[in-house]
Order: sequence, then C-alpha cells, then structure tokens
Amino acid sequence: MTRGICILGATGSIGQNTLDVVSRHPGEFRVVALTGSTRVEEMLPLCLRHHPELAVMVDAGAAAKLREALAAHGHNHILVESGMEALVAASTMPGVDEVMAAIVGAAGLLPTLAAVKAGRKVYLANKECLVMAGGLFMEEVRRNQVILLPIDSEHNAIFQCLGDGQGVRRIILTASGGPFRQWPLERLAGVTPEQACAHPNWVMGRKISVDSATMMNKGLEVIEAHWLFSLAPDRISVLIHPQSIIHSMVEYLDGSVLAQLGNPDMRTPIAHAMAWPMRMESGVSSLNLAQGPALQFEEPDLGRFPCLGLAFQALEQGAGASAVLNAANEVAVQAFLEVRIPFTGIARVVEETLEHCQSRVPESLEAVLAIDGEARRTAQDRIRQTFSS
Ligand code: NAD
Ligand code: MG
Repeated sequence: MTRGICILGATGSIGQNTLDVVSRHPGEFRVVALTGSTRVEEMLPLCLRHHPELAVMVDAGAAAKLREALAAHGHNHILVESGMEALVAASTMPGVDEVMAAIVGAAGLLPTLAAVKAGRKVYLANKECLVMAGGLFMEEVRRNQVILLPIDSEHNAIFQCLGDGQGVRRIILTASGGPFRQWPLERLAGVTPEQACAHPNWVMGRKISVDSATMMNKGLEVIEAHWLFSLAPDRISVLIHPQSIIHSMVEYLDGSVLAQLGNPDMRTPIAHAMAWPMRMESGVSSLNLAQGPALQFEEPDLGRFPCLGLAFQALEQGAGASAVLNAANEVAVQAFLEVRIPFTGIARVVEETLEHCQSRVPESLEAVLAIDGEARRTAQDRIRQTFSS
C-alpha cells in the first residue's frame, strides 16, 4: 500500500528536501497535495514531476497562472485552488495519510492543526505553530492520538536519543551560532539581509536563516522542545557547536549522554521521521569524522544573542508570552529583510513588544489568534516609533 502525502510548503527548502526523499522511494509514497504561496515557477516543476491531485497557491493570481501553465503542459487533471481554506482542504483531503508541515511562520498553524484534528500522521517542521499554541496543539495531538514526528534536526535528534523518556536529567540543544558568532559586536548593527541569510552550515529559507543569525531560532526551538517532550525550561539547555555535526543530546541521571550525529542535511531527519520506526535511505553521504573538522563547543553569549534570552523569558512567563514573542519576531524579521530596521533592531522590537503586550494564557485558538494579531500591531507600532526617520 502506498502512503498518500500532503506537503504544506512544498516549494520551500524543507518541502523540496521532502520531495527529494520521496523520489528515492518509488512505489512507497503517493504525492496527493502540494501547497505553495506565490512562486509559480517553483510549483510548476514540482507538479509536472510528482502529479499531485491538488496544488494550492495561497495567492489567487499565482493559482490562476499555475492553472494556465499546467493546461499548457496538458496537465488539466491537477486541481489548482487558492486561499487559506484550500490549505486546510489539502491537509485533510481523502487519500492524505500523512502531512509534512513545512510552511514557514504562523501561517502554518491552521492547516497543521486541521491535519491533527483529522487524525493524520504529522511530520512537524513548522516550529512556529508550537511556539504560538503549544498547549492547545499538543492537547489535540493527544485527543486524536496523532503520530507527531519532529523534523527540526535538534528535536529529531532528541527523539532518536530519548528512548522511553525515563531518567532524563536534561536535553542539550546544539546551535551553530550562525554567521555572526565571532563578529565584533559593533558591526552587528550594519549587517545586511544577504549576510544574515548566508548560514555557514545549512541552506534554508530566509526567515529561519535570519532567526539562526539572531539565535531566535534556538529560542523558538527551546519552546518547541518544551511542548514536544514535556520538559520544564530548566531541563533544556543550549550549547554552541559551530560544526553542526552533533544535532543534539540527551543527558541521563547516571551521567550518560546520548547524541545523534550526521552531516548537516535535512534529508536525514526527514527520512528518519518518514520511515520511523524503520529506517530508509535519504541520499545523505556518510559522516567522515577522521577527515572532518574538529568538533568545538562553547556557551552561548546572551549579550551577543539577546533573542535567545527573550525566548527563555517568554517560556517562563507562559503560553501567551510565547505567542507574542513569535508574532513580534515574524514582524521584526520581515522589517529587517525589507531593510526597514537594522539587524540589532530585531531583538529590540521583540523585547519592547513583550513589555507592551499582556501575556494572558490563551484558552482557545481564537484567543491565540487574538494575541498574535495584537502583538503584530504592537510590533509594527514599535518599528514606526523607533525606526522611521
Ligand atoms: P522556506 O521559506 O524555504 O519555505 C516556506 C514555505 O512556506 C514555502 O513553500 C512557501 O510557499 C510557504 N509559505 C510562506 N508563506 C506562506 C503563507 N503565508 N501561507 C502559506 N504558505 C506560505 O522555509 P523553510 O526553510 O523550508 O522552513 C519551513 C519551516 O520549517 C519553518 O517553520 C522553519 O522554521 C522549519 N525548519 C526549516 C529547516 C530548514 O533547514 N530549512 C530546519 C528546521 C526547521
Ligand atoms: Mg533546528
């Protein structure tokens, strides 16, 4: 029996890596639905190669162009839809057994949650949905007895090292430290989007690349780990490991530390999750420790990376503060990519938004979305007041 898969965010870095893994296992998977946002030139070849039943472009104009282009190639049988509702339809449609949740940002929450409520198996790359709504999300996972497998390389590593979860002292999330780990602090204000997106070890989308450069990515991952593995904040630590060979570790009460290692290539966690509890080929080359660089470690410097401290602070404050942190960060990163604020302004906008927004614990999805909206408005206000000249 083939397994029907929907890939939310198929045109992105995780989406394309997932399709690469799928292509290595003909006869194992059926690509039922693919979703993208605006980039028709990236969706068209995916549709021509994988023949989904449904292709979604969130943008209506992009959907019209895709429909036209597919017709020109004689592929009228692929249904093309647009809008947020179509994302939900894609992740819950008949024939979809499994969903790769790889949309970036808060936009991933509703379609991923819909997949959970429909009882689909979910591969989770979209960490923002746990940062926004971890409590509600995990409650639905439990209620619907959903198999939820982590794709984020650190969380996939922890999952691989965790066994039955007994006797854990703490988990150690590794972090590369991004491109600016050793830059003089006074140069950080002048960082350009291109410099921030040039990650030393991983090729990723622009938002997560900027998050890696500020280390907000690690902060979001601390919150993600809290919800995925039910761990208190003081049992989650962060260690800088610039080579990105050890993807994370679990320390046990007896002093044992288990680590998962591999070349930095997202096809490993993707193939691990999609084959679990078995194993399958991913196309990733063997790790050569003798010829590779020496493995180094250091403590993160919260003065250089204030976003990491802000994320720990938000986690301590409660679920509402995490939703505020996530929304403010998305707004600030977008403003940085549009060269409206400096790189160092990202942490400032997030900090000021956390100070201005109430951090009540959201009891419903509507409450989460209300907090998200309020935090976005506040972050935009902070940007206008502080940075527009
Ligand atoms: P990306 O920018 O390369 O791709 C994002 C995808 O989301 C694209 O398909 C895009 O069309 C879609 N998208 C963007 N905005 C949308 C919207 N408003 N509505 C619907 N779809 C939208 O990002 P990525 O690097 O593939 O990351 C995707 C997710 O996976 C992020 O949450 C990221 O944190 C997480 N992640 C990525 C990596 C990685 O190596 N790239 C590693 C770990 C976790
Ligand atoms: Mg990660």
